Amino acid sequence: MTHISNIPANFKASGVSITGLRKSYGSNEVLKGIDLEVKPGEVVCLIGPSGSGKSTLLRCVNLLEKPNEGKIHVGGFETTDPDVDLDKMRQNVGMVFQQFNLFPHLTVTQNCTVAQTKVLKRPAAQAKEVAQKNLDRVGLGAFGDRYPDELSGGQQQRVAIARALSMDPTLMLFDEPTSALDPETVGEVLAIMRSLAKAGMTMLVVTHEMSFAKEVADRVIFMDGGVVVEEGIAQDVIGNPQQPRTKDFLKRVL
Ligand code: ADP
Ligand code: MG
Repeated sequence: MTHISNIPANFKASGVSITGLRKSYGSNEVLKGIDLEVKPGEVVCLIGPSGSGKSTLLRCVNLLEKPNEGKIHVGGFETTDPDVDLDKMRQNVGMVFQQFNLFPHLTVTQNCTVAQTKVLKRPAAQAKEVAQKNLDRVGLGAFGDRYPDELSGGQQQRVAIARALSMDPTLMLFDEPTSALDPETVGEVLAIMRSLAKAGMTMLVVTHEMSFAKEVADRVIFMDGGVVVEEGIAQDVIGNPQQPRTKDFLKRVL
C-alpha cells in the first residue's frame, strides 16, 4: 500500500441528531420514524440489508432528499428548517459515495479545487494548496495531474475523500465507499477512513465491512425495513446480536 500521511487531529467536528425522521416515495414509506444521534467525533456504522433505507437516511442528512417528517440537526444547523442556509449547511457535510462521482474531464487536483473556488470562493492558489494538503493526506500527493480514469478504483475513492476533505467538513457521510472496489484496493480506502476516525472526524458510515465496523465504529446501528432494529457498541451488535433480524442479517454477511 502507498504511504499514507498522518491526518492531524484538528478537525472541528460536529454531531448529527435525527428525531422522528420519515421519508416516503409516493406510497412507499422508506424511513418510518428514525431517531439517531452521532456525537461530535464519534464514528457510527450503519448496517442492514439492501433496500432498508440506509442511503435514503444519509441523503436526508444533507437534504439531498427532503424528509416528510422529523427534525435533523447538523452542527449548528437545523437542516429541515425552511430558512436554513442550504449551501452553508452542506459545506459542513462531506459525502463519499459508492461510485466515486469524480469529474472525468478534470484532473485529480481540479476535482479537489472546483467546489472550493466555486462554492467557498477561495482564490485559486489557496484552493490548490488545500487540495495538495488533502491529496498528501490520502497518499496521492504525486497524482494531482492525472485524470480519474488513469487511477485504480481505490485511488479514485481516495481522491473522492480528499475532495470532500478540501471543503473542511465537520462531518463525513460514507455510503458503501468500498462496495464498488476490487478486493485488493478495499484496504487502502479503509485505512484512510481509519485514520480519519482516529483524527476525530465525525463519521456516519454505511458499510458491509463488518470487520471495519467492529474495529473502528464506536457504535453500530442495524436498520431493516426503514426502522432502527438494534444499536449498540460494535462488539455487541456484531458479535452478540439480540434481535432475530440482526442475527439473520449477520449470518448472511459474515
Ligand atoms: P439501502 O441504501 O438500504 O439499500 P435505499 O435507501 O437506497 O436503501 O432504498 C430504500 C427504498 O427506497 C428502496 O425500496 C428503494 O427502492 C426506495 N427508493 C430509494 N430512492 C428512491 C427514489 N429516488 N425514488 C423512489 N424510490 C426510492
Ligand atoms: Mg444504499
